[in-house]
Amino acid sequence: MITNKPNQVDFERQSIQYLIQALDLIITNDPSSDDIEEHGVNKEDYWKYHQGILNNSLTLMFLSVENYLKKEICAISPLLLLTGEPKKWGVSKSNKKYSELFIHSFDDLLVLYQELGLGQITEQTASKLEELRIKRNQITHGVLEGIITPKYVLETFYTLMVHVWGSRIWWDQLKSHVFNEPLFGIYDTDHERASVTFYITFLISYLGKSKTGEMLGVNLKQRNYYCPSCNYWLNHEVDVGDSNFAVLTPNTPTSTSLYCIVCDTVYDVERVKCKEPDCKGNVIGGDGYCLTCFSEQYEDS
Ligand SMILES: [Zn+2]
Ligand SMILES: [Zn+2]
Repeated sequence: MITNKPNQVDFERQSIQYLIQALDLIITNDPSSDDIEEHGVNKEDYWKYHQGILNNSLTLMFLSVENYLKKEICAISPLLLLTGEPKKWGVSKSNKKYSELFIHSFDDLLVLYQELGLGQITEQTASKLEELRIKRNQITHGVLEGIITPKYVLETFYTLMVHVWGSRIWWDQLKSHVFNEPLFGIYDTDHERASVTFYITFLISYLGKSKTGEMLGVNLKQRNYYCPSCNYWLNHEVDVGDSNFAVLTPNTPTSTSLYCIVCDTVYDVERVKCKEPDCKGNVIGGDGYCLTCFSEQYEDS
């Protein structure tokens, strides 16, 4: 018998962990242009020097998609992941741990994934995956050809999220992973919940609103508003940064529902003109903040 078989959740956890680390590596090392240009360094040169970080990020992304495929296949049976003829697994007379057996290579996993009807890979996505596999092999062999940029890594991320995971699925996985972390909420739960906003801000800075929205399953090209909850909690003690990725649903002049992609909540809003003379906004949250400029509306009453 085979003992200690993995289940789908094990691979999902691993896959999302790799994904978060792939992003965090770039986020935590990405200098602001202003800071470095002050010292006569531009971002392009900075990243040319730090190819190792981008290589690691790309490798983690490869590991993430590999584990994603394992997770999907494992939903049917973890035995489908094993290579070799079953009679040669050596489990007919004695027990063997699952971890002692060999798992299919990436190419084989990809064939299984499609042949089992678990998902469609378009020709374009397949060639992007092949490119990723080759780059990952070059990195492993220490012979990477060409220069990698953060934009290249994030374009790869975009293809994987939209065409392999599917819009929004990765985002829900990422949030649930971050929110279930044992130290989550030690500082301030609402603040930390809102802080995943910075992943969106970061992705927009490299990929733009159209592609970022596509990954999140929401149209960020329509007007974006502050989230009455996320933006409040993010800045209620000290100003940390904006959380303004909420959109009207439907997107009409009289719409009174606002959806935030960060907290995944729909808020009732009033359509009243903001009282700030410089603000043209007319979307006011239930607690009295203009969601265009985030000024309080009722303070004089
Ligand atoms: Zn929100
Ligand atoms: Zn306003």
